[in-house]
Amino acid sequence: MSTDTIEKPAAAPQLTPARSNPVTPRRTQGRPRVVVIGGGFGGMEAVKALKGDEVEVTLVDRSNHHLFQPLLYQVATAGLVPADIARPLREIFRHQENVEVILSEVQRVDVEARKVITEDLVLPYDYLILATGSRHSYFGHDEWEKFAPGLKNLADAVDIRTRMLVAFEVAEKAIEQSERDAALTFVIVGGGPTGVEMAGAISEIARHTMTRDFRHIDSKSAKIIVIEGAPHILGSYPADLAANGKRQLESIGVEVHEGLQVTNVTAEGVEVKGGQFIPARTVVWAAGNAASPLGKTLGAPVDKAGRVVVNEDLTIPGHPEVQVIGDLACFTHQTGKPLPGVSPTAMQEGRHAARNILETLSGGQPMNFHYWDKGTMATIGRNKAVADLNFVRFGGFFAWIAWAGIHLFYLVGYRNRLAVMGEWIWNYVTFYKGSRLITGTSDGQDALRYPAPGSQPECSPDNAVHTVPGHSKP
Ligand SMILES: Cc1cc2nc3c(=O)[nH]c(=O)nc-3n(C[C@H](O)[C@H](O)[C@H](O)COP(=O)(O)OP(=O)(O)OC[C@H]3O[C@@H](n4cnc5c(N)ncnc54)[C@H](O)[C@@H]3O)c2cc1C
Repeated sequence: MSTDTIEKPAAAPQLTPARSNPVTPRRTQGRPRVVVIGGGFGGMEAVKALKGDEVEVTLVDRSNHHLFQPLLYQVATAGLVPADIARPLREIFRHQENVEVILSEVQRVDVEARKVITEDLVLPYDYLILATGSRHSYFGHDEWEKFAPGLKNLADAVDIRTRMLVAFEVAEKAIEQSERDAALTFVIVGGGPTGVEMAGAISEIARHTMTRDFRHIDSKSAKIIVIEGAPHILGSYPADLAANGKRQLESIGVEVHEGLQVTNVTAEGVEVKGGQFIPARTVVWAAGNAASPLGKTLGAPVDKAGRVVVNEDLTIPGHPEVQVIGDLACFTHQTGKPLPGVSPTAMQEGRHAARNILETLSGGQPMNFHYWDKGTMATIGRNKAVADLNFVRFGGFFAWIAWAGIHLFYLVGYRNRLAVMGEWIWNYVTFYKGSRLITGTSDGQDALRYPAPGSQPECSPDNAVHTVPGHSKP
């Protein structure tokens, strides 16, 4: 595929003058060019649906792989390795000849000039599909991110895995009981599906996987705490299923606090409303999402979470050639509320956006989007899950089997499906979690310093007490 339609930007990108009527597609190389930004669930489905020779497709992503986010928590808790749940975009589309893949971070979109401006390129388009998803939001407290990382990409997952494993190591060599307790306390802020899944997986690793690995601590004594600000965890589920999920969590030793707001997060732990402080070395943020900032560069209306308010056909006002999909879109036309930020929404919108482009090119009219809600499910740990399939709700073992089957089915690539299935079977039989490796992200390196920065006790004879056999203070 030729790239002669791609320009290198000048220091400040030079854009063509504003265009008045965007409806008629501009042809590049005889075929209209569709730029898709983001190769996540929405973008990937859109590109697949644009297979054929009616259009040229440019897929731009700042990472080189498609990531199966629903299993990210298993990488963060050492159950899977990153390569099990991600696949290079180039490989996914190697046989789709009308697609080129560009690795670049998009900085903004000039909808009037119909150009996408990345860190190193200017990409003209006839049609644009924007699918850059969301990040976690700290509700105006971005300073908490350092102490309570969120889980959105592979780097986040490896960072959290490092922090979790380092916490057990710190507990093993801790001298003071208070330090050991803080190291063995894991706080998950947010009781949505991701928070619940994280809590269940940490509980499993502490109660089963690591029980014979340490000599000075009992890993089973680890405290796992979920703090949810809303009245109930799993708030998007029917009340009976959410209560079922809470019971299942508590049955594996997870403490659940509902209706409790976190007011501060520091290197030492979490403060909650009312002033109580929970000392904890590891805090994971699973509360709140903010849309990708790219949405705001379109000049279209956005909601409080930064999602682009789209028309019924997923386009933005005044620009029928621009469609926004997935977590970045706020589509309220069906239920009066935004559609849930889940992968089926993104995938269905991706396919719809592609169909509308092809329909328009063949002289037809774009169709309004309609979401087919197939239900939701979340796993809580071994043999434990909740499932709401609209026509039936259930929890426990059968929900867990259904969860596993559906996740395997949607995972991209046979290699990944086989690898994950193999890991799961092995893990189920042996309780073994194979990727308990502490690898050095910069935060991980920091975490490895012992005692934690700032927590170095005064060096006095009183402190030189050996509370752990064979251990003394430096
Ligand atoms: C931990 C976790 C667990 C989840 N579990 C579930 C689940 O069990 N079931 C479920 O249905 N949903 C789940 N979700 C939600 C689901 O993953 C999202 O709804 C879905 O990924 C949204 O798809 P998307 O295409 O909008 O965005 P994404 O899949 O997030 O893709 C966005 C893409 O855009 C790229 N990008 C972002 N900004 C730029 C830029 N400036 N320039 C270039 N590229 C950019 C990113 O690299 C990424 O590839 C989970 C999400 C997370 C984080």
